[in-house]
Amino acid sequence: MKLYLEGHEYKYAVEQMLLTLYPEERPEYPAGRPEGKRMEIRLSEGEKRLTASCLLVNEQGRFSGRACADRAGLGGALEIERKAQRLVKNAMYRAALRAGREKPVWGALTGVRPGKLLSAFLEQGMSEKNALERFIREFDVSRERAELCLDASRCTLKAVESLEERDVCLYVGIPFCPTRCAYCSFVSQSVEKSMKLIPPFLEALEQELRATARQVRALGLRVVSIYFGGGTPTTLSAPQLDRLCALLAEEFDLSALREYTVEAGRPDTITEEKLRVLKKHGVDRVSVNPQTMSDRVLETIGRKHTAADIESALACVRRVGGFAVNMDLIAGLPADSVEGFSETLDRVLALGPENITVHTLSLKKGSRITLEGTDLPDAGAVGQMLDLAGQRLRASGYGPYYLYRQKFMSGGFENVGWTRPGYANLYNICIMEELCSILALGGGGSTKLIRRDGGRNIRLMAPKYPLEYIQNIEKTCAEKESITAFYETR
Ligand code: SF4
Repeated sequence: MKLYLEGHEYKYAVEQMLLTLYPEERPEYPAGRPEGKRMEIRLSEGEKRLTASCLLVNEQGRFSGRACADRAGLGGALEIERKAQRLVKNAMYRAALRAGREKPVWGALTGVRPGKLLSAFLEQGMSEKNALERFIREFDVSRERAELCLDASRCTLKAVESLEERDVCLYVGIPFCPTRCAYCSFVSQSVEKSMKLIPPFLEALEQELRATARQVRALGLRVVSIYFGGGTPTTLSAPQLDRLCALLAEEFDLSALREYTVEAGRPDTITEEKLRVLKKHGVDRVSVNPQTMSDRVLETIGRKHTAADIESALACVRRVGGFAVNMDLIAGLPADSVEGFSETLDRVLALGPENITVHTLSLKKGSRITLEGTDLPDAGAVGQMLDLAGQRLRASGYGPYYLYRQKFMSGGFENVGWTRPGYANLYNICIMEELCSILALGGGGSTKLIRRDGGRNIRLMAPKYPLEYIQNIEKTCAEKESITAFYETR
């Protein structure tokens, strides 16, 4: 789609909306005013009002959309900029709907954190009813999705109340897996090929851990949650996990820790010995992720285990005891069907995990499925799977506690974390709702320093390839100095 911008340079906002409305289109910016099929998106900033307009020209005709807002009540430049971007998106959205585009389930929302907007209304003191109606009206979100968001927002508000200003979460990224799944674009090295990189990776991680801990101590930050992700952290051996957990406890004051999670996603990496090591160090949550309980689908997506392996891994977790368990499922996997997904739900519910996270398949550019092309359930079937999950989970006593969206999600749907009462994972809420800073260590770790006053957040990314991470460790450690700078200038 040819795009023509006038009065603004909000390319990112425009492209996000284009992806939501016309995922099959790629943005083009020809020199000068384009002809033919195109979107012309204008913004005018008057003294009193901001006005965005969009002219969409396609084979069916010319369609226009408009959105405006009063400048009064908008704070500084950042708030005005955010509002202007929202108006630009709304104008595009309205033009596309006039052109007959089907309304997306999340309406005009494009971001990964839809719940943040609704939570913000509630934090401003709005009643739940008014916040919900405004959310639906302003962003044209379906009532069903808005209500899902409201449930999650209630958990967000509870988390907000429980957090103090200097509370932080720690994330530890272990970018290794036994084999690579077909839908994965995350560079998690196959252990067969990269086993030799694990020891130098752990050495580099130790260096980063110590550099970060020095700042946490000096700044008086309080670690309330630890989350090991990846990759699959339980790819590490029991002694390696033991050493890493011991080092964390040595370097950080964990007396205020409220939860300690380790992803043990692949059953082929779970052993009783590793679980006992984790338990000894206070880990009280693990993820055992089937994605599906259909052996045929597991084989199609390249997971080298069966549903029965998941059941025995879970039995092992329960035998060791003391862990709340999360299980991840994915709606929309190749070779799956609504009936198959329904059976998966039954089998997982029978295992009684404390959390179930229902993802929608998101096809990343580098994944094998995208590269090779595979038959996937269509958006209608994925929608049915998610509806089924919602009904079945609610009926079984689970409630939604956080949600987020990703690019390239089948049908533009969402991922939802469901929990039995009292088991919500604080880390997931904090990262999705940006409630406190996340200090990340390890491969692919994304440190996010959060300003809850609406100011700009700061993000520091560590390389995700193990070799690159090892080679750049000095730089990664040096960048951690920004943590001090961030907190000292607040
Ligand atoms: S377990 Fe997760 S990170 Fe590892 S290859 Fe599979 S999808 Fe990727």
